[in-house]
Amino acid sequence: MFYISTRGDASESSKKTFCEILLGGLAPDGGLYLPESYPQVTRAELDQWRGLSYADLAFAVLSKFIDDIPPADLKALVDKTYTAEVYCNGRDPTQAEKITPVRWLKPGLGLLELSNGPTLAFKDMAMQLLGNLFEYVLAKQGEQINILGATSGDTGSAAEYAMRGKRGIRVFMLSPDARMSAFQRAQMYSLQDANIFNIAVRGVFDDAQDIVKAIFNDRDFKARYRLGAVNSINWARVATQVVYYFKGYFAGTQSNDEQVAFAVPSGNFGNICAGHIARMMGLPIGKLVLATNENDVLDDFFRTGVYRPRGTADTWATSSPSMDISKASNFERFVFDLVGRDPAVIRELWSKVDAGGSFDLSATPYFAGLQKFGFVSGKSTHADRLTTIRAIHENHGVMIDPHTADGLKLAWEHCTEQMPMLVLETAQPAKFEETIVEALGCQPERPESTAGIEKLSQRVEVMDADIDAVKRFITREIEGR
Ligand SMILES: *Cc1c(COP(=O)(O)O)cnc(C)c1O
Repeated sequence: MFYISTRGDASESSKKTFCEILLGGLAPDGGLYLPESYPQVTRAELDQWRGLSYADLAFAVLSKFIDDIPPADLKALVDKTYTAEVYCNGRDPTQAEKITPVRWLKPGLGLLELSNGPTLAFKDMAMQLLGNLFEYVLAKQGEQINILGATSGDTGSAAEYAMRGKRGIRVFMLSPDARMSAFQRAQMYSLQDANIFNIAVRGVFDDAQDIVKAIFNDRDFKARYRLGAVNSINWARVATQVVYYFKGYFAGTQSNDEQVAFAVPSGNFGNICAGHIARMMGLPIGKLVLATNENDVLDDFFRTGVYRPRGTADTWATSSPSMDISKASNFERFVFDLVGRDPAVIRELWSKVDAGGSFDLSATPYFAGLQKFGFVSGKSTHADRLTTIRAIHENHGVMIDPHTADGLKLAWEHCTEQMPMLVLETAQPAKFEETIVEALGCQPERPESTAGIEKLSQRVEVMDADIDAVKRFITREIEGR
């Protein structure tokens, strides 16, 4: 299995293996990595996979993407990751060994629970495996990595919980001081592991993000301190997410003749990109329902063929904050398939995007062919979230978080009798207390593991939004002086 860049030529020399791209981000030409061609699943394989445990299924699916880790080693990494202990935050402990159980709201409509990991958001599904893969590959290469990132919440905590205590890895995570919820701060800052460094920057998320970008642009510093990232374009994260579409499909069907629809709350197009790939592999997915919040550039594209990313100033801060994205970093992967995998077309389209512009495919045969990829889209607003959270609580006694509510709103609109619909539950309500209180007038349920988390002592370095101060901190910690 070789990987190519969405913007590159497919010459032999530019092809990469899984482990070669594991620790990196963008391809050198600025594109994203994808398999040279999607591995296919046969009907016989689907029949065989139907009864597998989550870990065994993950091994089966990922073996199709990873052929440069010995199978026994990959199996051990997967087995160590997908355990009932790691994914124990299920509200029903008897379901924990399923890792991603389905909660049926009514026949044909269910929630695929992806938020039972340590940080209560779906990013744990991939990030926990990434931590184990990184540690394994770094040990083999005798290398180290220092992960640098900026977070406004979910990504940073998922990365820290995945990398804590791992050999050869340090995490330097910048967050906006006093801007995250008390729960989110406690989740990150209470970690006492020696390889985790929380840096709270006096400013907003963009200030933190700008510092990270500036440091990555300093090539000498980046090379000298072996800086790396774990952002949502990382191929291993996308590949790992493919697994739960299979798991959900089996949970929603009796036989492999049937189809399932998935509704996915989307931001960077990472989660739903994995659904697209599962479908391209031959999983019978009837529909992929893409849900956005008020930041609706993706909904615009799927309805009109125009992709017009917005700047930070035009990105709304909403009550489903992990979807407040106006430039969907994984979208290029889908468009590559849409334009028949022609890198020249991608280079042309993204030369416009990278210059702050937009592109319009409405009059092209590509847009006419969009239908065969199974996507439908729609948007959900703050008022919709409140209505959805209330309705589902009143009618089913279930509490959902605001992101899942965006997905459920669109699921209702696109649900049919003929095809079961699974909404990807991307976070637990405990993470978004304010909106739950606004919708329901009561506090969200909380997993026991997080009781009193705000009272734990916190380990965080507060500093000005100053690039050099952050560099000095990193230097000091790595060089131990
Ligand atoms: C990250 C995140 C999303 C968006 O996922 P993408 O892969 O960026 O589309 C949705 N909901 C929650 C809770 C998240 O943390």
